[in-house]
Amino acid sequence: MTDLARPASESTTSPDLALSAAARGDAGSPILEAAHLRKLFPVHSLNPFGAKEAVHAVEDASLALYPGRATALVGESGSGKTTVARMLAQLYAPTSGTILFEGQPVSAKGSRALREYRRHVQLIFQDPFSSLNPIHDVFYHLSRPLRVYRHARSRSDLRDQALALLERVSLTPAEHFLRKYPHELSGGQRQRVAIARALAVRPRVLLADEPVSMLDVSIRLDILNLLTKLKQEDRLAVLYITHDIASARYFAEETQVMYAGQTVEGGTSEEITQRPMHPYSRLLLSAAPDPDRLTGEGGLARLPARGEIPSLVRPPSGCRFHPRCPHVMPVCRERFPQRTALGGGHWVHCFLYGEEGGEEGGAKPTDATSVQTQGSAG
Ligand code: SF4
Repeated sequence: MTDLARPASESTTSPDLALSAAARGDAGSPILEAAHLRKLFPVHSLNPFGAKEAVHAVEDASLALYPGRATALVGESGSGKTTVARMLAQLYAPTSGTILFEGQPVSAKGSRALREYRRHVQLIFQDPFSSLNPIHDVFYHLSRPLRVYRHARSRSDLRDQALALLERVSLTPAEHFLRKYPHELSGGQRQRVAIARALAVRPRVLLADEPVSMLDVSIRLDILNLLTKLKQEDRLAVLYITHDIASARYFAEETQVMYAGQTVEGGTSEEITQRPMHPYSRLLLSAAPDPDRLTGEGGLARLPARGEIPSLVRPPSGCRFHPRCPHVMPVCRERFPQRTALGGGHWVHCFLYGEEGGEEGGAKPTDATSVQTQGSAG
């Protein structure tokens, strides 16, 4: 058995990794912690003499998930946010970094331990149609985890619990949906079945990978409201992966912004959306200025056509955002900035802030307003 993590006594939750206690209320200790996760995917070349290359999908991601609270991981496609979720779900082994569940190291191997971990940490996928088996009905999808984890004692118990799960996700009358097949359901109904299936094993953590992005805009809010209700009722810790920073503000208490495999800013969702400090966060927000757009047209965040996310096989040196950044300084190309704490659990990786920035001849603003005056990030 290969441990991914350090001993439990060495908690990874430090003041600059987690939100301050005041910012996260009385959520207590984190259920799931990840520190300094890194993931490289080797690129297989047809040339045996060619240089070994790798996709640098995630460089250094740290987060802590608390009961009854949601953390949003926001970024464009290719930012590495789904890879982080898959490492947390143990679908990918991290290249390096640590994962703790309830303070205990998570094992990379050992089928029993892995099965138990996956019972507690459930993944909800972006596409509810492909995550459900088209040849099986709703009862099969809900009864299978109940049987595998021995939560039901008899067939009638199985049926009763499946009906209760459907009612929890507001698929009513539940009897009407029990024998339906995926193709007979709408996208929103399929996602509700996928959520009910995740709940069947009584998880502690939900990893929701873009759970509403493939749904009609009119039902996105319904699904987010359902997840909010379940988060509060079951004290679930939720990781909400999204490219839509407006929905992150609506749904999650905490937000982290990722760009090209690097986490660049984090804090309370209110703080990140009201006082974004990193130029990339400002760019994301400029593409999603209205939180009410969740229910309107154009629900997907679209960035202005100002550069593209870079190749992760040969990513830009230093701060990977530097080719797109309107505030780029020479030092930005040389190294990645350290984390600067801004107070109240808000932090940022950018040379515009903190002690190490500014001396290379670039600007050194102290707040979001002064960044704005140097030119729009969008
Ligand atoms: Fe990155 Fe430099 Fe721009 Fe900050 S100022 S986002 S460190 S390129």
